[in-house]
Amino acid sequence: MAKSFAVIGDPIDHSLSPNIHSAAFRELHLDASYIAYRIPKGELEEGIEGLKKIKIDGFNVTIPHKIDMMKYLDKTDESCSLIGAVNTVTNKDGVLKGYNTDMDGFLDPFKKKNLTITNKKVLLLGAGGAARAIVAGFAKEKAKSITIANRTLENAKKLAEFSEKIGLNANAIDIVEAKNMAKDFDIIVNATSLGLKNEPSPIQLEGINEKTIVYDIVYMPINTDLIKRAKEKNAIIIFGYEMLLGQAIRAFEIWHGIEAPYNAMKKALLGGF
Ligand code: NDP
Repeated sequence: MAKSFAVIGDPIDHSLSPNIHSAAFRELHLDASYIAYRIPKGELEEGIEGLKKIKIDGFNVTIPHKIDMMKYLDKTDESCSLIGAVNTVTNKDGVLKGYNTDMDGFLDPFKKKNLTITNKKVLLLGAGGAARAIVAGFAKEKAKSITIANRTLENAKKLAEFSEKIGLNANAIDIVEAKNMAKDFDIIVNATSLGLKNEPSPIQLEGINEKTIVYDIVYMPINTDLIKRAKEKNAIIIFGYEMLLGQAIRAFEIWHGIEAPYNAMKKALLGGF
């Protein structure tokens, strides 16, 4: 029987996920479809009932439902309970199981490029939902320490507490303080939404070198101001689309139990820009 999948969220019109997954179905000749389904905030429960009625096989969850969705799961994978948010769900005869593929998606480019995280000093800009998955990733890969810089210091402090709890040394600072600190770190990650509207990078990159890794998880535009500055310094760059692709690949493998067609999915993703 044909399988059906969806991504739920609001706004959802510009989601790249239908393109990425449909390309994978075509590549592997799978009898499956993937649609974008708008569910406004406050209508999640009815939305999920609707998806169960049509016997959806699985779905992705994006803003604003990643945390609320936890309430409607029957089972949770470890990734999901650790991070406290869900972005991928399987439906087996009405039993919903949640996963969070943001952490694996974030780590995927490091693995693909053979870049080590163990013992590295990390500067993380941002303390929202994505930042939490990223902290879990750095803890798993045994980074040396993480400095979390955020506009709202309180949120950075909470995330630093989470980090310490899962075994990664952390401290919290105001993002303004981080402005000239880049040179003190091996890995710099932007997980704020700054860049989406072409805002200037919140930090300078003076003193970094070609061994410094600069990772911007903002994927639209591809070349954010932070990425452009990192290129000028010949740093090692990881683009936001690489994380997006990584999380989609992990979701595909959870749903279908077979290896995802990386190149076809990448091509579809880059064609969407
Ligand atoms: P959240 O809303 O949970 O967090 C937003 C973060 O950005 C907070 O740290 C917030 O700080 C900060 N921020 C927002 N506006 C400003 C501003 N004007 N100045 C300084 N800081 C600001 O969002 P997510 O964590 O879910 O997503 C963050 C970004 O990451 C988004 O752009 C999203 O598109 C991208 N993303 C990319 C993924 C990928 O696969 N490449 C996956 C997931 C997300 P404060 O705490 O002060 O509000």
